[in-house]
Amino acid sequence: MSETLVKDKKSSILLNSEPIVKYRDVTKSFGDVHVLKGINLDIHPGEKIAVIGPSGSGKTTIIRMLMTLEEPSSGDIIVNGTNLWKMDKKGLSIRANEKHLRDVRGDIGMVFQHFNLFPHMTILENCMSAPIHVKKENKEEVRERSIKMLDRVGLGDKLEFYPSQLSGGQKQRVAMARALVMRPKIMLFDEVTSALDPELVGEVLEVIRDIAKNDDMAMVLVTHEMDFALDVADKVLFLDQGVIAEQGAARDVLEHTENERVQAFLKRFR
Ligand code: ADP
Repeated sequence: MSETLVKDKKSSILLNSEPIVKYRDVTKSFGDVHVLKGINLDIHPGEKIAVIGPSGSGKTTIIRMLMTLEEPSSGDIIVNGTNLWKMDKKGLSIRANEKHLRDVRGDIGMVFQHFNLFPHMTILENCMSAPIHVKKENKEEVRERSIKMLDRVGLGDKLEFYPSQLSGGQKQRVAMARALVMRPKIMLFDEVTSALDPELVGEVLEVIRDIAKNDDMAMVLVTHEMDFALDVADKVLFLDQGVIAEQGAARDVLEHTENERVQAFLKRFR
């Protein structure tokens, strides 16, 4: 079977499953700036979604809300059947109960543009920290899993190095290993290559490709790497001025769209 057929078949299986995340009419304003103007989005188990669009269109805000780093101004974000935020009678948001938020955070891993590693810890300690301190897992098991993960991202020989001793690409690979050690159901990648020197981008994308092809977690990738999105994503969303202006199978959006704004946007990357 061709790779496209396999991907299409996989997509239809995914879409028949119940979404693990649902955004319903989600808006977000920062003061007078209306950043998101009504987002509706389902994320199915195992689905790989690329989010593209001009700078400032709200891509990062969408995933930060799922990580509970930002609250929506209105609308619902439902994870595993429970709303992350509830509105009181005055329309002010109240958090879902702390246990649900903890569970959600435990299911979601995020990799940031600027790595966010702990500078005073070795890379092995960076990977071990959250499973031990947040999830209260057994230290030896976590250690073993962390070493395996660091090996997988090609850093098995640098376990005792500190972040300052690594290149940007290596730091970003540590950040990925650290997120994977938590065994998330969803991984969020926020422009993880945009702070890197061009020659280091490839090694980081290679690790994400490997994860996307071999792991069955859902992934949401905010990216400007269009070839990469085409290769990895089941679905592509084009965000423009706070709305999802176009969405569909990766090839349909990235190669055959008739939407002029998408075409104009994509031209910049050719
Ligand atoms: P993108 O990821 O598409 O570049 P963002 O989601 O980062 O877009 O930001 C969308 C808009 O929201 C931008 O205009 C940005 O300046 C604004 N914004 C994001 N976070 C904040 C914040 N914490 N306070 C004020 N404005 C913000």
